Amino acid sequence: MVGVVWFRRDLRLADNFTIQRAFAECKSVYGIFVMDPVVLRRAGSRRLSYLLGALSDLKEQMQDRLIVAYGDPAKVLLDLCDSVEAKSVYVSGDVSHYSKWRDQRVREALLGRSIAFIEVDYPTTFPLGSIKKGDGSYYQVFTPYYRAWSNLLPNLAVAKRLEFRWSHLSHQGGYPTYLSEVVPDPLAGETKEHRRLEEFCTSKIDRYESERDLPAKDSTSRLSAALHFGVLHPRTVVAHVDPFRHERFLSEICWRDFYAETLNQFPQSSWMNLNKAFDAMETESSDSDAYERWVKGETGFPIVDAGMRQLASEGYMHNRVRMITASFLVKDLHIHWTAGARYFFSALVDGDVASNSHGWQWVAGTGRDAAPYYRIFNPVAQSKKFDPNGDYIRRYVLELREVPDSYIHEPWLYDRFDTLGYPYPMVDHQKERAEALFRFEATKRRP
Ligand code: FAD
Repeated sequence: MVGVVWFRRDLRLADNFTIQRAFAECKSVYGIFVMDPVVLRRAGSRRLSYLLGALSDLKEQMQDRLIVAYGDPAKVLLDLCDSVEAKSVYVSGDVSHYSKWRDQRVREALLGRSIAFIEVDYPTTFPLGSIKKGDGSYYQVFTPYYRAWSNLLPNLAVAKRLEFRWSHLSHQGGYPTYLSEVVPDPLAGETKEHRRLEEFCTSKIDRYESERDLPAKDSTSRLSAALHFGVLHPRTVVAHVDPFRHERFLSEICWRDFYAETLNQFPQSSWMNLNKAFDAMETESSDSDAYERWVKGETGFPIVDAGMRQLASEGYMHNRVRMITASFLVKDLHIHWTAGARYFFSALVDGDVASNSHGWQWVAGTGRDAAPYYRIFNPVAQSKKFDPNGDYIRRYVLELREVPDSYIHEPWLYDRFDTLGYPYPMVDHQKERAEALFRFEATKRRP
């Protein structure tokens, strides 16, 4: 039998149950990645660059036998199956609203020609939907989900990497010109990310718990893009970690799973409040100067501006600073979280619908977990606590490089502030904090 492995967010050969199943059931197996114009349109330049880097690595590992095509996946897959007489297409499952809709279309199109669509692997540590309460319902809050998740760790099964002989098809891909202008990220792909994982586990993970919240330190794994594209499976990462010594790191991987599960159950949660009570909340338009200043990193709050400038220049932002910048948009500028999530999603190399939208809902207080709306980040206090010497700020806000430590978090108090070319704070945080709470209370009172 002839089979096709349709790679999507599983751009790896190691720890891949989909590939194993295809080779176990078929004599000859073709591998394809389809550049879907709908997905490409939503991916910013950083994510495209990572994708191309990861594909180039995969292609090399498959001795140039990966077919990379462009177009509507249903049509591309039907054409491929026709030309090689394939009877089954194997995939790893995905959780986003679009991917589910797309897979349903492809499944129906293939079934119309008696070709099976077989979903094998999944993007979470354990199969989607497998972690449930005793009564069969899903966990709604993180802590008990994490407990159940941790209890399963001793049974974690990782798929060994086996060498397979992929079938070859010469294929002339026609791509839109803008794609040929994207430079593949040289640090992307399975080979490099395995090295990054090894390095993290040998030299950084012991400092993770104490330093993970300090954005000036390079103490986190930086594996988020690899996990998003399935260049590494979370199983592989978890299997590298000692659960007794590095629980904090594991709990972050579990947050990723929890958000993927949430999206799997509530597909609309990527753009709608999970907590419907917040639908009545009054918000400001994102079509505004305030929003533009936030995007450009010109708010006058050094830690917020450093984060937004890190995002614009690197396509990445430290987690603590993601929380601070998101809180500033929602609670100081009163702009709906979806506007911020849209911008983050387009700019982040690790932009992931589940982690991004639910990260924003966590900050906004509109999600399922116990993050009350009245938790409002004070950008100055956060800055003093997590970037005490201002090293992170100085790295991205060049106007503040020469400002003495004692003024770095509140440069407007510095007597030479007017010479720096840096803006005054665009809002009074205490006033906006009160305004955010007022709006929240008003929402609660609405029938
Ligand atoms: P590490 O600290 O090394 O963590 C290891 C892995 O655990 C990460 O790679 C990631 O896969 C996962 N993880 C860590 N923290 C979280 C978290 N809070 N929620 C979910 N998963 C987590 N993460 C994304 O991967 N894509 C996004 O689009 C995204 N958007 C976010 C938006 C907001 C507003 C917030 C507050 C967080 C967002 N996160 C997102 C989560 C987190 O900020 C990043 O995963 C993390 O900063 C990536 O850096 P790292 O790989 O060094 O993380």
